[in-house]
Amino acid sequence: MKLLEEEIRKRGQILPGNVLKVNSFLNHKIDPMLLEAMAEEWYQKFKNENITKVVTVESSGIAMAILVALKFKCELVFAKKGKASTLGNVMTASIYSYTKSVDVLISIENGYIKEDDNVLIIDDFLANGSAVAGLISIIKYAKANVKGIGIAIEKGFQDGGKQLRKQGYRVESLAIIKEMDYNSNAIVFDSEEEKNEN
Ligand code: 5GP
Repeated sequence: MKLLEEEIRKRGQILPGNVLKVNSFLNHKIDPMLLEAMAEEWYQKFKNENITKVVTVESSGIAMAILVALKFKCELVFAKKGKASTLGNVMTASIYSYTKSVDVLISIENGYIKEDDNVLIIDDFLANGSAVAGLISIIKYAKANVKGIGIAIEKGFQDGGKQLRKQGYRVESLAIIKEMDYNSNAIVFDSEEEKNEN
């Protein structure tokens, strides 16, 4: 998605450890017009999949996921991190936090994802795929169907996207970063041609 790539180039900041900071428009200060355009892109890609639920992880995914849920006119469920005393019986998974370098428990209350729900997973980043894998395991436990995975920024030089596609999941990333360099703050995106070939 050209608009997102332009914003990343303009406002993204590469941090050490292959981390891209997008706090000024995506996951701290938020540009709702950009998020709305992103939600429309995912809607166009998945509109024939009869999506009945959008699922993400707190907290960065929530803002974009709620706009996606509005497009599909369905509910959004976000997995909570850590142990929340307000939760009842939960389905859980352990994920490895890429940015915090620790294992984190994520939970979704039983019954919030229903058997036979057609689920679209939404997240801000795809790196090694741990967050998405955790969500998939909970969705499978609930006996629902994973219809697709919508990612804002996939770091294509890490393995998550490749692994998920190999497992047969439809991953639609709006921007795929092929390379990024901390020293020069340079970012190379997958070209449109390459995206179409995938
Ligand atoms: P994964 O589980 O695929 O290894 O990492 C994805 C999760 O880690 C995302 O939910 C996101 O919160 C975080 N993450 C991974 N890479 C980055 C990055 O480069 N920048 C930011 N801001 N978050 C990232």
